Amino acid sequence: MSNFYQAEVLSVHHWTDRLFSFTTTREASFRYQSGQFAMIGLEVDGKPLMRAYSMVSPHYEETLEFLSIKVPDGPLTSRLQNIRVGDSILVGRKASGTLLTQNLLPGRHLYLLGTGTGLAPFMSIVHDPEVYELYEKVILVHGCRQVSELAYQQRIAKELFEHEFLGELAAGRLLYYPTVTREPFENQGRIPDLLQSDHFFARLGLPAFCKADDRFMLCGSPAMLKDTVAVLESRGLTEGNMSHQGHYVIERAFVEK
Ligand SMILES: Cc1cc2nc3c(=O)[nH]c(=O)nc-3n(C[C@H](O)[C@H](O)[C@H](O)COP(=O)(O)OP(=O)(O)OC[C@H]3O[C@@H](n4cnc5c(N)ncnc54)[C@H](O)[C@@H]3O)c2cc1C
Repeated sequence: MSNFYQAEVLSVHHWTDRLFSFTTTREASFRYQSGQFAMIGLEVDGKPLMRAYSMVSPHYEETLEFLSIKVPDGPLTSRLQNIRVGDSILVGRKASGTLLTQNLLPGRHLYLLGTGTGLAPFMSIVHDPEVYELYEKVILVHGCRQVSELAYQQRIAKELFEHEFLGELAAGRLLYYPTVTREPFENQGRIPDLLQSDHFFARLGLPAFCKADDRFMLCGSPAMLKDTVAVLESRGLTEGNMSHQGHYVIERAFVEK
C-alpha cells in the first residue's frame, strides 16, 4: 500500500493573497488526533512533492481541512494555491505531532498560542469536545501582522458557540484573543510580550501566569517559538514531549530554509 492516498478537493477559500484554506475528502482509514499534522502534496513531474500540514479539521470530521500559506516561489504552495474543486491532492497515511494534551501535565487553563498558519492545529483542538473536559478555560491566541490574516474569526467567535453540542461545552470556557502587530486593532502585540503584560491576563479575566494551573501549546515561526519559550522558561516551565509531560509543548509552523 502506498504511503499516500488521493483526496478530492471539495472547497477552496482564499483569505488573502498570502493565505488560503481548502477541504478534501478523507479516507476512512486515515486516523489522527486533534492537533496533529500529516504530509500533503501534489504529484509533480511524476513524483510526490510533500510538505507537513496541520489538520484544521478535528479528528471526528468526515472531511479534512487545511490552512495554507502561499509562498510565491515555494515548490509546493506556488502550485497548491491554484487547486480547484474536483482536483486531487496527496495525503500521507500517517499523522504525527506533539501538540497533544497527553504531553502536558494536568492543569486548569490551556493557552493555545499560534501565529500565522500556526492557528491550524488549534482550530482542530478547540473543536474537540475532549479539551473542554480536561480544562476549565481554553484560551486561543492568534497573532498575525494584519487583520485580514486573522483566518476563521467568524467560525471561532460565532459559529463554534452556535454548534449544537460544542456550543454548550465552549460557552464561558473558550476565550478567543486575536492580536495583530502591524495595524490598529482591538488587541495588539506579539505573543511573547502579551505573556509578560498584566493587561493581557486582565482582558481575559484570568489570573496572571500560574505555573500550577497554566499549560501552553505553541505553534508559530522559529522566532515566535524562541521568544515565547524564553518567557515560559524564565517562569520555570518545562517542555513536554511524547516521552514525558511538561508545562508546554511546541510545534514549528514552518521551517526556515
Ligand atoms: C510540523 C509542520 C507543520 C506545518 N503545517 C503547516 C500548515 O498547516 N500550513 C502551512 O501553510 N504550512 C505548514 N507548514 C509549512 C509547510 O510544510 C511548507 O513549508 C509550506 O507549505 C510551504 O511549502 P513550499 O514548498 O511552497 O515552500 P518551502 O520551500 O517549504 O518554504 C519556503 C519558505 O517559505 C516560508 N514558509 C513556509 N511555510 C510557511 C508558513 N506556513 N508560514 C509562513 N512562512 C512559511 C519559510 O521561510 C520557508 O523557508 C508546516 C511545517 C511543519 C514543519
